[in-house]
Amino acid sequence: MTQPIYSLVIPIYNEEENIPEMYRRLNNVMAQLDGEVELILIDDGSRDRSLNLIRELHHRDSRVRYLSLARNFGHQIAVTAGLNFVQGKCAIVMDADLQDPPELILTMIEKWQQDYQVVYAQRLSRKRESWPKRFTAYAFYRILRRLANVDIPSDTGDFCLMDRQVVDILNTMPERNRYIRGLRAWIGFRQTAVLFERNPRFAGKVKYTFGKSWALAVDGIISFSTVPLKLATYIGLLSAGIALLMILLVLYWRLFDPVSPLIGYTLITIAMFFLGSVQLLCVGILGEYIGRIYEEVKGRPIYTLKETGGFIKESEIKTK
Ligand code: UDP
Ligand code: MG
Repeated sequence: MTQPIYSLVIPIYNEEENIPEMYRRLNNVMAQLDGEVELILIDDGSRDRSLNLIRELHHRDSRVRYLSLARNFGHQIAVTAGLNFVQGKCAIVMDADLQDPPELILTMIEKWQQDYQVVYAQRLSRKRESWPKRFTAYAFYRILRRLANVDIPSDTGDFCLMDRQVVDILNTMPERNRYIRGLRAWIGFRQTAVLFERNPRFAGKVKYTFGKSWALAVDGIISFSTVPLKLATYIGLLSAGIALLMILLVLYWRLFDPVSPLIGYTLITIAMFFLGSVQLLCVGILGEYIGRIYEEVKGRPIYTLKETGGFIKESEIKTK
C-alpha cells in the first residue's frame, strides 16, 4: 500500500439518491488525476440505505474507504472525522449532493501545484436560491467579516482543498464547536479562491434546516469574535445615558410643566420593559459563550465511530 496523493472527503447524511451519481461523476474526475486517490466517505448516522451503498462501493473499489459515525453528529463533525483519517498529501472536502461540481477539483489541484496550501471554492452568485436565503446569507457573511478577528472570505463553504500541513494543524485543534471554514482561514498559509456556480441539489432534500443553519451561523460568530460580549457594556452605557437624559427631562417638567402627561406609569413601564429586555439579551449572549465553554470543558470525544472500512495502520503505509 502506498500513500495516496489525493484524499477526497465526503460527508453523507441520508443521500441514497445521490451516492451512485456522485460516484460516477467522481470516478471521471479521479481518472484524470495524475496520482493515487483515496475516497473517504463518512456516513453521518444516516437512516436510509446510504451506509449499504457505501459498503458496496468499498467492496467494488479499493480506493473507497469509509467511516460510519454512531449517530448523526452534523456536517462539520462528519468532515472533521473524515479529515482525521486522511492519508493523502492533500485533502479535498466536498458535499455528496453534487452542489459542489466535482470537476472543479481539477482546477483546485492545479492551484495546489502552484504552491497554494488552501484552495477554497467561492460562489459567483446565489441566483438560484430563494430571496430569504440569499438575504440572510449575504447579511451573515458581512456581519461575520465585521466581527471576526480573522479574515473569513464571504460566500465560501466547506468545498476546498487543503494541503497535508493544514489538515494536520486542523486535526490538532481540539474544539468541539467547529466552524471549519473559519478554522481554515485562521490557520493561514497561502490561500486562494476558485470561483464557481453552485448547482441545485442533484436529488433529495436539504439536510440543513433553518435551525441547523442558524446554529452554524451563531457558532461562526461566537467562535471567532468576542464583540457580542462587549455589547452588554455598550448597551449599558447607552441606557445610562438615556437614564440621565430622563432625569433632566423630569426635573424640567417638574419645574416648568407640572402637568406633562408623560410623567407617571407610561414612562416607568417603558423603561422597565426596555431595561428588562436589554438585560435578558445580555444574559442570553453570555449564555451562548458559557454553554460553549461548558461543552469544551467536558472534553468528550468529538464523535463516536461504529464502523470503518479500508483503513490501514499508519505503520503499514509505505511513503513514496
Ligand atoms: N450532512 C451531514 N450531516 C448532517 C447534515 C448534512 O453529513 O447532519 C452532509 C450532507 O449529506 C451533504 C453535506 O453535508 O453531503 C451538505 O448538506 P446539505 O446539502 O444538506 O447542505 P447545504 O448544501 O445546504 O449546505
Ligand atoms: Mg447541499
